[in-house]
Amino acid sequence: MTLGYVDERAQDRDSEGGLWARITSDPRGGGAVHNALPHYYRQRHLMRDLLCQVCARAPARNQEGDYLFVLPDGPKSGAAVDLEGVREAAPPVCLGNAEDAAARCPRLTRCVALWVRRPVLYGVFGMQYALGPRGLQAVGTRMAEYETPALGWMVAIQMVRQLNGVTVDRDLTAHLRDLGRARQDDRCPRNGGA
Ligand SMILES: [Zn+2]
Repeated sequence: MTLGYVDERAQDRDSEGGLWARITSDPRGGGAVHNALPHYYRQRHLMRDLLCQVCARAPARNQEGDYLFVLPDGPKSGAAVDLEGVREAAPPVCLGNAEDAAARCPRLTRCVALWVRRPVLYGVFGMQYALGPRGLQAVGTRMAEYETPALGWMVAIQMVRQLNGVTVDRDLTAHLRDLGRARQDDRCPRNGGA
């Protein structure tokens, strides 16, 4: 048994069979419509096709063809951490948009720039459900891997790739962090406008 909508449409599932949230995402029906919903379908499209998370065009690639990913919350000490195989829901980014974002957002003073050889589809992030005594119950948010039984009990809101073949770009990381530091007092929309 797996979850599904009674009136399921093609766009409700991704290419790997994951079930995706609708505006009313409660599969029991009658869920509230919340403001500020993540753009589920946009994220899925960008992550599936490996497009820039900001402009939806081609992301930055290096000479080897690796994709540029910028993780917003990297380690404070720089790049001395093993990020091989990290699972990420933020799509890749083009260089111009990475610099724009870093220059606007103090949060990116801890970013890490990665070149990724094989960003392989891993699964989804979303709400997991289970059958309880009173029927279907939300268990909590988590990741589920494609082609595992757990996927059948998820309502996805983000597509996740596992980043294999990771090279940390120390120079670009330092450059992006500097851009962020230079604008510490500017507002960052994702940081509550501090
Ligand atoms: Zn872009």
